[in-house]
Amino acid sequence: MGQTYDVIIIGAGPAGLTAGIYAARADLSTLLIERYGAGGQILNTYEVDNYPGLPGITGGELGYKISSHLDKFNVARQMAEVLAIDFCEGANKVITDTGEYIGKTVILATGNSPKKLGLPGEAEFTGAGVSYCATCDGAFFKKKTVAVIGGGDVAVEDAIFLARGCEKVYLVHRRDELRAAKILQKALFELKNVEVVWDSIPKEVAGEGSVKGLVIENVKSHEGKTLDVSGVFIATGNDPNCSYTDGVKKDEKGYVIADETCVTSAPGIFAAGDIRSKHLRQVSTAVADGANAVYSVQEYLLQKGM
Ligand code: NAP
Repeated sequence: MGQTYDVIIIGAGPAGLTAGIYAARADLSTLLIERYGAGGQILNTYEVDNYPGLPGITGGELGYKISSHLDKFNVARQMAEVLAIDFCEGANKVITDTGEYIGKTVILATGNSPKKLGLPGEAEFTGAGVSYCATCDGAFFKKKTVAVIGGGDVAVEDAIFLARGCEKVYLVHRRDELRAAKILQKALFELKNVEVVWDSIPKEVAGEGSVKGLVIENVKSHEGKTLDVSGVFIATGNDPNCSYTDGVKKDEKGYVIADETCVTSAPGIFAAGDIRSKHLRQVSTAVADGANAVYSVQEYLLQKGM
């Protein structure tokens, strides 16, 4: 089975990559396991305008920069999907689709993924008009009319991004005020080709072969109508990616319970970034977790004499 690593980091978003940088600098033997390559969710963000020191950087560029920073150091990187962890103090077995790896400690940093709404037509038309990533798929809808569902930062950023190329963008939100940051709302309301459809929930994605409409219902009047759109972008939040972490305590939303120290309920297992129960999920808080998790790993190894 090969070597026992001081730490195995699962996930290559900002939290995992930062943990890799800190682990290498602490001289820990380190394996970073990544599923689809480095960057994580910021790759789905057109512009990250609140990461200090790098105003206006694109998500792709920031992901590339953090990943290249890690490559300065001697950290093993393995492309694999983690299926399960066999917890065993001092010798945790990380089981992946390409092999098994042993770590004295493990940092869980697999973030979260866009929530599915379970609408009729949603699964059928995913990839044929339904998307969870405006920056990935927006270009397919140039000069067309699309709908974005949600009222948070991601939904508003998506609507702003799509409005650059689309004929018209509907933002369908279930309440009469947006949750998104005020600066984003201001930018949204200035756009002539965006219409916010307030107090409305989606009921069905309609189409034939591809999306032709979004059926919505007004929650106050209970009136239904169909928006003629060829694309539906769903941006209603995320679910944590922790299906492989049975045995670690989670909160009511399924996030791994850990405070700022990133210490979880399982000895030697730490959680960093968006997978962790926390107040604010941002690149800056994920990066902070990466550093804190490695500090806790060092404390743990020292205490256990490993
Ligand atoms: P979010 O802030 O949780 O917003 C989700 C939105 O979807 C809310 O407006 C919510 O409505 C709506 N929603 C949830 N379930 C729904 C359903 N079943 N049907 C219809 N609408 C539904 O999630 P997010 O926008 O994906 O952002 C995730 C995190 O990343 C947040 O902490 C956010 O601040 C952060 N983020 C920050 C930035 C930035 O600072 N630049 C950029 C991207 C993301 P309600 O408002 O009624 O609950």
